Amino acid sequence: MAYLHVMREFAARLLARVPTVCGLCQDTACGGRLCAYCYHEVTRSMTSGRPRCGVCQLELDLHGCCPDCTGRTPAFDRVIAAFDYAAPGDLLIHRLKMQRQFTTAGMLAGLLADALRSSCPVVPDRMVLVPVPASRAALRRRGFNPAAEVCHRLARQLQRPCRPGLVLRMREGVKQAQLGRTARMDSIRSLYACPERIDGAHIAVVDDVLTTGSTLHGIAQACKAAGAATVWGLVLARTPYHAAGHSVLNAADPADQDHTL
Ligand SMILES: [Zn+2]
Ligand SMILES: [Zn+2]
Repeated sequence: MAYLHVMREFAARLLARVPTVCGLCQDTACGGRLCAYCYHEVTRSMTSGRPRCGVCQLELDLHGCCPDCTGRTPAFDRVIAAFDYAAPGDLLIHRLKMQRQFTTAGMLAGLLADALRSSCPVVPDRMVLVPVPASRAALRRRGFNPAAEVCHRLARQLQRPCRPGLVLRMREGVKQAQLGRTARMDSIRSLYACPERIDGAHIAVVDDVLTTGSTLHGIAQACKAAGAATVWGLVLARTPYHAAGHSVLNAADPADQDHTL
C-alpha cells in the first residue's frame, strides 16, 4: 500500500508539470491548472484580506456582522470556498454545469483543495467527502451531478474517501420560493437523510455554489442527527451577499435550485 501511495504521488507530481493550456486565457499553464494570472484573478476576492464570516465565508457587513448568520445558528460548522461566485470564476462553473466540460471539474477541485489546505493545513484524517445529491429533475435535465463530479476528484486529490450514498435525498422538493419561512425550514429539514449511524464522523459536504446555505443546513442537520461530530461545506464558490440579494433561509436559493426542485 505504501508503495502504491508513493507511486501515485510520483505520478501526480509528474502530471502537474505537463504543459497544458489555461482554461480561461489559453495561455501556457501546467497540469491542467489555470495559469498564474488567472488563478490570482479567480481567487483574489478570497485572499484580499477583507473580513469574512468564520462560519459561512460571507464578507462581513460594515458593522462587522455576517448578514447570513445573524439571527440564526447554522447546523454546519464552517464553509470553505475557493472563490466568490463572480467573474471570472463563475465561467468555469458554467462550463462544467452547462457545457459538460468535465476536464474543468478536476481543475476546480484543485482550486478547492488549495483553499482547504490554506485554511486548514492539516486536512482531518477521518474526513469523509459527500456530494450534495441532485434532484431527479436536475439529473434528468443535465445527465450528471456537478457536485459529485467535483467531489470524486477532490477526494482523490485529498486522498480521503468519497461516500455519495451517505446522504440521501428523500423526495423531490417543492419550489422554496412558494413556501413561507416555517414551511421552508420544515421542507429542508426533512429533505435529506443519513441512512446509517456515523458517530463521531467528520463530514465534508461538497457542492458547486453556496448561496443561502439552506441546502447545506438541511444536510448538516441530517448528518448530525446520525451522529456526525462536525459538518463542513466545501464549495467551489460562495455567492456574495449583494448578488444573492436575500438572507439565509428567507428566500429561494437560485444556485440551490438543482437541489430543491
Ligand atoms: Zn490564464
Ligand atoms: Zn455567516
